Amino acid sequence: SSGERIAKVMARAGLCSRREAETWIAAGRVEVNGKVLPTPAVTVGPDDKVVVDGTPLPMRERTRLWLYHKPRGLVTTNKDPEGRPTVFEKLPADLPRVLSVGRLDINTEGLLLLTNDGGLARVLELPSTGWLRRYRVRAFGKITQAELDGLADGVAIDGVLYGAIEASLDKEQGDNVWLTIGLREGKNREVKRVLEHLGLSVNRLIRVSFGPFQLADLEDGAVREIRGRVLRDQL
Ligand code: URA
Repeated sequence: SSGERIAKVMARAGLCSRREAETWIAAGRVEVNGKVLPTPAVTVGPDDKVVVDGTPLPMRERTRLWLYHKPRGLVTTNKDPEGRPTVFEKLPADLPRVLSVGRLDINTEGLLLLTNDGGLARVLELPSTGWLRRYRVRAFGKITQAELDGLADGVAIDGVLYGAIEASLDKEQGDNVWLTIGLREGKNREVKRVLEHLGLSVNRLIRVSFGPFQLADLEDGAVREIRGRVLRDQL
């Protein structure tokens, strides 16, 4: 079967060293799927039930969650058919295998959550979490606060309905405006499409928060693990 050597799995669960695991197996203390293991030369996968001294071994690693400051120019996919650099190739080497919570477009920067737990990733990216995603946006063109206020009622563009969007004008900079945009759905290219609909062309897009998590001072390309109560509250 595919999977990992049983001694490695026991060691990673924090029970013992690999060598001790082999001793325990020889002593008949370990069962897999209801049968005492005759030998350590066995691999187990996530569906196998391992019991040590009568106690089931949790097979899953503990859930971990990181904030990541995604740089501009990376795609959020495991393998890009066009060969462009991906987020996962550029992550710090000491990070375990992770998934992203949703995606950011290639030219979007800022906060992307990463986790080793696929179930958590799927739950957190759902619009039904109701989490606010806030963006700082630079766009070419002119816009009034009244036009931005209109987005609070939602907007339909090319048959796609976008729900309530909070939008405010922060400043004008030459031919550009800086806006803060808050939305709760995260539909494909939502910020760009909605602003384009108002005659603006987005040229910088930075996600600064995602639900309870803030980009704050996290440096471009850096990761920071979320631990303790803040993480437990999300599980
Ligand atoms: N809106 C966009 O247009 N792009 C993103 O990456 C995220 C939100």
